[in-house]
Amino acid sequence: MNEILIGKICPYCGKPIEYVDSSVIYGRSYGMIYLCRDCRAYVGVHKGTDQALGRLANAELREAKKEAHFYFDQIAKTNLINKIWKKHIPNTSNRNKAYLWLSNQLGIPRELCHIGMFDVEDCKRVVELCKPLVEVKLAMSI
Ligand SMILES: [Zn+2]
Repeated sequence: MNEILIGKICPYCGKPIEYVDSSVIYGRSYGMIYLCRDCRAYVGVHKGTDQALGRLANAELREAKKEAHFYFDQIAKTNLINKIWKKHIPNTSNRNKAYLWLSNQLGIPRELCHIGMFDVEDCKRVVELCKPLVEVKLAMSI
């Protein structure tokens, strides 16, 4: 897999990164992070592992990811995905189904389709795709 996507090198300067405690950023510890000090870019790890959650993110990308999650989660963490995509897929959580749908919509292979791996442009596409669907849902529930 691409070394940027798995948090091994910094996507902004291309240099190797440090594996440090998150207290260097937050002032208290929320576990380990991969960090590029020069770019002020970082990413957390999957709980109990040293595996990065995705690519390192600078302030701009952190904001873009937050917005993408805000809209995508309203599809993935509710029943909305089953209204958008009526196909029944056995043994699949709504969240997994939503990611499968997202990968089809964006044309990104499923194994690379994680918001944590996306760049700013990808995150904007998630918002463009999900925001209207979420807003329709809100309008219907009034
Ligand atoms: Zn860097």
